[in-house]
Amino acid sequence: MKIRLAGYIPESVVDGPGIRFVLFAQGCDHHCPGCHNPQTHARDGGELVDLGEIFDRIKKAKLIRGVTFSGGEPFLQAAPLVQLARQIRALGLGLVTYSGYRFEELLALGGTDKAVRDLLAASDLLVDGPYMEAKRDLGLAFRGSANQRLIDVPRSLIAGQAVEWTEVDTGDKLFA
Ligand code: SF4
Repeated sequence: MKIRLAGYIPESVVDGPGIRFVLFAQGCDHHCPGCHNPQTHARDGGELVDLGEIFDRIKKAKLIRGVTFSGGEPFLQAAPLVQLARQIRALGLGLVTYSGYRFEELLALGGTDKAVRDLLAASDLLVDGPYMEAKRDLGLAFRGSANQRLIDVPRSLIAGQAVEWTEVDTGDKLFA
């Protein structure tokens, strides 16, 4: 299976806790004013890449604590990303997923789209919501604007509502 990517970074420290391999999914319909990655919006842009090739690169990144799916909008390509997420988790790596959708919207979309549901469930941490220029804050961890939340996905799915991640949760292997 292939995925359309805008690019990837083998080692990043700004896209989630610790050193992370970051995939930038190509395609986004949110068109947030002030978006820093407009080149990721076109659904037919970027490059089609084989999942196996990407997984091989992730396996070679020995210093990483986890993988981050960013974009673009990762949930537009939920089906191939779920496959990759399962392989990543089998390596014992955590997963951070970014989305321009809010957690509640993804829950609703997941009601009719199994791949969306599965990608959400495969994520440890969701950075949710659109970038809002009026709420831009460069001091926030892993986010660009104050409306975006860090969602503890496993706890949120159990609770049936968004549970925000806090520093107190560092017992989790993702954040240790
Ligand atoms: S969701 Fe992300 S990539 Fe898409 S327009 Fe908004 S900031 Fe840009």
